Amino acid sequence: MQKETVINGITIAPGVVIDEVFLFAHEELEVPQYMVKAEEAEQEITAYHSALERVMQEMTSSLAELKGEESEIMNAHIMILNDSEIDSQIQDYIRMEQYNAAKAVDAAYREFAELMASMDDPYLKQRSSDIQDIRLLLLEQLLHRKRKDFKRMRGILGANELFPSDFKQLCREAVTGIVTEQDEATSHAAIIARSFDVPVIFGAKGISAMVQNGDLAALDGNQGTAILNPTAGTAAKYRNLQDADRKKKEIRNVYLRRNCQTKDGAKFAIEVNEGTMDVNYTDDCACSDGVGLFRTEFLYMESARLPDEETQFSAYREVLQGFRGKPVIIRTLDIGADKQLPYFSLPEEANPALGKRAIRYCLSNKELFRTQLRALLRASAYGDLWIMFPMISGVEDYRAAKKTVIAVQEELQREVPELQCRFKLGIMVEIPSAAMMADTLAHEVDFASIGTNDLTQYLEAVDRVGGSAGDYYRPFHPALMRMVHQVVQAFARERKPVGVCGELAGKPDGAVALASLGIRQLSMDRTSIAGVKCTIAQFETSELQALGDRLLQASSEEEVRSELEAAMAKKRTDLRMPIKGER
Ligand code: PEP
Ligand code: MG
Repeated sequence: MQKETVINGITIAPGVVIDEVFLFAHEELEVPQYMVKAEEAEQEITAYHSALERVMQEMTSSLAELKGEESEIMNAHIMILNDSEIDSQIQDYIRMEQYNAAKAVDAAYREFAELMASMDDPYLKQRSSDIQDIRLLLLEQLLHRKRKDFKRMRGILGANELFPSDFKQLCREAVTGIVTEQDEATSHAAIIARSFDVPVIFGAKGISAMVQNGDLAALDGNQGTAILNPTAGTAAKYRNLQDADRKKKEIRNVYLRRNCQTKDGAKFAIEVNEGTMDVNYTDDCACSDGVGLFRTEFLYMESARLPDEETQFSAYREVLQGFRGKPVIIRTLDIGADKQLPYFSLPEEANPALGKRAIRYCLSNKELFRTQLRALLRASAYGDLWIMFPMISGVEDYRAAKKTVIAVQEELQREVPELQCRFKLGIMVEIPSAAMMADTLAHEVDFASIGTNDLTQYLEAVDRVGGSAGDYYRPFHPALMRMVHQVVQAFARERKPVGVCGELAGKPDGAVALASLGIRQLSMDRTSIAGVKCTIAQFETSELQALGDRLLQASSEEEVRSELEAAMAKKRTDLRMPIKGER
């Protein structure tokens, strides 16, 4: 009898499961290495190109079956395969260094993966495993090797590392949980794993060596822990938690496609945050009132170079069409600080978060900005487009951005006189100066969305990505509560819409706090929608108002949190079934 072992990791998807484990491992491919004579070089290059062609064909043909996030990931992989720099590096290795094709592919892709892994930006770092994945796919083609099929395996998948293409070897219905050692929470592997809708834990160090096929394990995705070989007592505990978890999920999902409203019928707009990697527009449209934030930087980050006007136009048209006339807020490029592009170096700055980023960067790189605006305005004919500028510090920025939009519109209309451009122009309120000037801004703009992630960072002078002062990042700081309230009032006076699209909007207690301060438009990750709708439905408007008054009187974050906890404790927000007739 093996000893019970607890391994702590990070939560990728919540939930609880107890089941047998099956192990998944990549087979190490032995790459043959030999010198190629000058006259054989072209033959090797042809072999490499036909392997590339076969991988490409497989990817493009499977694209039709994929939807949403997975099809976007596949598109990103196709872009890597098409990368002309890697292609010429491989050809150079064959022609100049006399490498055979497999060795050249192996070397060029490994170097590219290492370069990505050495990046500071966590997003770019995580692209490294996509590149390794493609390296393996190409080598398998070149060496005529087939991957093992795991379609018959059932239970919890345990692995050292999973690449995006590994998931094709699995049967979705048979996987009850996923636990791996890799710790990149926003990697493509994590995104696909999450789409399995089972508990997923990453960063469970040592698990692949500790567990054997058929061992019993419990995954607690809520806590980020894996328990190997649980004792009878622990196993019973996790079976109960698994049952409770299933019930909770079923109940929350009842709310998913409902309109969001309080007990007494006050309506809320629940919108979804999108990025190009994250698309299942039909589903997202069905459970939301539109897109509250489309982060266009993903489109730029996913490419091997700056996306051209056509690429952007089709991405924007797709989301506008996908949301069938519901409002779609597309934010112009927000790069800088924690969001970098692999192929493009931004000017070095001592404090990048306070530097020439987002709208500041776009305003001084007009060509880049114009390309994006041309794509947006052309796409505006396909839906209800709201264009939003990030990092606005006051009216000057907004006026300058608006002037550029109008110039681009005139240019387009000169080119295509019949072109219909219909859009609204708004701002992110994420810099305290903009919040302080909310009355003036509300007068000029069509709408605003409060970015609580950055507003917290700038208001409290603490880095949003952590660091030594991480504890000072207080999303419920009373100063933030007051600032949100001030912005809400300014926009209410002008009768202009204002929502929140930062992380706070997607947390049940955050949504309640924002609702109590008068926010009626919340935009969030799709996985948060059911929980927020379910939570809001438990409250009366008068209760929210009274709570808001108390939050505005609070003197510390602790007080705000305890007011919220008290308000939430009275509700069983995770378990209550909607009452009959409730919409
Ligand atoms: C924010 O700052 O709150 C926001 C939604 O934008 P991002 O997280 O992309 O900076
Ligand atoms: Mg922001």
